[in-house]
Amino acid sequence: MINPLFLSHLKENIDSQIKILIFFGGFTHIGFFIFGIFFGIWQVSVYSGIAAIVFLFAGVFIHISNFVVFYVLTFIEIIINVVWLEFSVNTSLGFPLYFFVLIPVSIYILFTEHSRWFRIIFLGCSFFANIFGYLFFQILSSLMPTTDISLSVLLTFSVYNTVCVGFMIGFLSLYFMLHMQSQFSIIEEENSVLSEMSFRDELTGLYNRRFMKDFLEKAFASSDKEFCVAMSDLDFFKQFNDRFGHEAGDLILKTTASLLSPYSEETKIAVCRWGGEEFLFYFPMPPQNAELILNQIRENIEKSVLAYKDKLLQVTMTFGISDSAKNYGLLSQMIDDADSRLYRGKNEGRNRVVL
Ligand code: GH3
Ligand code: MG
Ligand code: MG
Repeated sequence: MINPLFLSHLKENIDSQIKILIFFGGFTHIGFFIFGIFFGIWQVSVYSGIAAIVFLFAGVFIHISNFVVFYVLTFIEIIINVVWLEFSVNTSLGFPLYFFVLIPVSIYILFTEHSRWFRIIFLGCSFFANIFGYLFFQILSSLMPTTDISLSVLLTFSVYNTVCVGFMIGFLSLYFMLHMQSQFSIIEEENSVLSEMSFRDELTGLYNRRFMKDFLEKAFASSDKEFCVAMSDLDFFKQFNDRFGHEAGDLILKTTASLLSPYSEETKIAVCRWGGEEFLFYFPMPPQNAELILNQIRENIEKSVLAYKDKLLQVTMTFGISDSAKNYGLLSQMIDDADSRLYRGKNEGRNRVVL
């Protein structure tokens, strides 16, 4: 299954490439038109003039939404081009080479939403048709009687065709590779943002409950059990919401959350939003050390005053700390312990840390 994000990027990429191909096609035909006039070969000028106008109109007006139709039309145009110019002018002018331009183009089908079998069959048929087309017309033209043609015409057309085809194949391949590379890095970036979002709480930006649960389960399963957890809850938050409104409540939640993250490379403390206005901490240290840190955080919250509209907002928070993980048989017992100490703190008057 191809990443849909990748497909949408690729769709833009293919659209722009096809527009460039149409531009090149038009440009190539203008060259033939000029050569035709210069060498007095009316067959070349007439066909190329018409083809150039068609290509340029296509480039300006057609928004390609169907790759397969575009591909088939281009294939037919190349056949008409080869048959008309190769046989009406001379053999071996290099026109069958244009079949090869469609090979790099047809590889794009691999990255479209078509079914797997369609893509494989399309690509197989495309390779076969292009190589067969080239060989068929090359052999056929060598069997046809040659018309008298000057060396300068032969050289001009052969060199021009080879350069144009080489340039188109080279450019398309390079363009495709470069864009694939940039699309991959964009997708990688978008994926990392998405995975970051999947373990963050939207309102506060802290870890979410799911992430913390996984994290604690791993920590609890490890042999190093020198850690504890703490549960915290804002005091009288229902009243706060009733008095100042839900919006002010959200603002306080965000501000408080920013005061709860004492993470540093040395301490490796983690904190998550466990529920509405409840937060769960992980402290890789003995509970006594956690108590010191939490008292600091509690004071910071108490001292913090937030101006909101014409009011000043202030809240307090109560904390409960578990014992060290090595004293528990189950992680849930450890969290329950932190929770019951938090409620003891509530009963004892709130705005405190209970161990
Ligand atoms: P206590 O001191 O006993 O904790 O009292 P309390 O009023 O804070 O009680 P409790 O913890 O049960 O209250 C939870 C309230 O928190 C309910 C709801 O109004 C509020 N709350 C929960 N989530 C949010 C939120 O995302 N935004 C806002 N604004 N309020 C929330
Ligand atoms: Mg509360
Ligand atoms: Mg609560």
